[in-house]
Amino acid sequence: MLARRKFLQLSSLGLSSLPFSSFNNKQVQKPLVLSTWDAGINANKAAWKVLRNNGRALDAVEQGVMVTELERNCCVGLGANPDRDGHVTLDASIMDEFSNCGSVAFLERIKHPIQVARKVMENTPHVMLVGEGAQQFALSQGFILEKDGLSPEAEKEYKKWLEKSEYKPVINIENKKNQQAFAPTRLSNGDWNHDTIGMIALDAAGNLSGSCTTSGMGFKMRGRVGDSPIIGAGLFVDNEVGAAVATGQGEDIIRVGGSHAVIELMRQGLSPEAACKKVIERLLKIKGDQAKNIQAAIIAINKNGEYGSYCLQKGFDYAVCTSDQNNRLVSAKFLI
Ligand code: ASP
Repeated sequence: MLARRKFLQLSSLGLSSLPFSSFNNKQVQKPLVLSTWDAGINANKAAWKVLRNNGRALDAVEQGVMVTELERNCCVGLGANPDRDGHVTLDASIMDEFSNCGSVAFLERIKHPIQVARKVMENTPHVMLVGEGAQQFALSQGFILEKDGLSPEAEKEYKKWLEKSEYKPVINIENKKNQQAFAPTRLSNGDWNHDTIGMIALDAAGNLSGSCTTSGMGFKMRGRVGDSPIIGAGLFVDNEVGAAVATGQGEDIIRVGGSHAVIELMRQGLSPEAACKKVIERLLKIKGDQAKNIQAAIIAINKNGEYGSYCLQKGFDYAVCTSDQNNRLVSAKFLI
C-alpha cells in the first residue's frame, strides 16, 4: 500500500505538449515507445505503426525490433559479427503485460529470433530454449533454416579479427572510437553500430511490454550468452510498475540483475531515471577501476509514461517516439 502511494506521488516530466490521458488520477503519456541506440529510430517507426492504431505493446515491440534484425550494417541478426569460431549465434527475449515471457539463446541460422522467443512464450510451457533445441523448436513452428555463413561485412570483420585472434571480451565503448577488439565498427561512414536492440512500450490501453534481440559480443567464446535473453537481467516488465531493458556488457548486467532491479526501485517510488542511475551506480561500485573498460546502460518507462535512462560511460543514446513527428534520439546521462 505504501509503495503504491509512493508510486502515485511520482512527479510527471512536464511533457505537457504531448498526448496525455488520465491513469489513477495522474496524467499518463501514452502510447510511447523507447529503444536502445541509434538503430532505435527505425525500429520505433515500425513499433509506432502498431501503437498509433491502438495496437498492443507486445506486437509493437516484436515488430519494432524485427526491423533491426534485418538491417544491413547493424550488428543484430544474421548479418552480425560471429563468435570466435566463425558462427553467428543469436539471443532474444520478450515479455508482455501479463508477465508472460519467452526467450532463446545460442540460436543459429534463424532470421528473427524475437519471433521465436514469442513462440516459446505462447506455444510452450517454458520460458527459455537454447541452441539446437531452440532451432529445432523454431523449425517446428514453421521458421526457415537460413543458409550457413557470414554476411560480406561480417566476413571482412572476422578476417580482420583473426589476424590477431586476441580474446578480449569487452563491449564497445562509444567514446573510444579507436578501440578495436570486440567493437562492432562496421559502418562505412565511420559511425559505430551496436550488437543489441532493446525496446519497451506503453500502449494506448496502458499496457507495457518489452523485447530485446542481439548477436551478443562480436568474436565471443562459442556458447557465450549475455544478459539479453535472461529475463530480469536484460529485460523485465511488470505491468503494475514499468518496463526496463539493458544493453552493454552482459556479464555485468546479469551481476546486478539489471532490469529487474530497476523495476523494483520504481516500485518503491523512484523515477525511471533515478532507478536506472541507482543500478548503474551499483555496477560501478562492483567494477571499480575496471568500469572504464566497459559500457552498460538501462532504459525504463513507468506506468505513467514517464521514462529515463542512465549509462556508465558517455555515448549511449536511446530513441523515444511519442508521435509520427516525434521520434528522436536522447543522450543518456552517464556516471564516468
Ligand atoms: N548486452 C549484450 C550482451 O552482452 C550486448 C550489447 O548490449 O551490446 O550480449
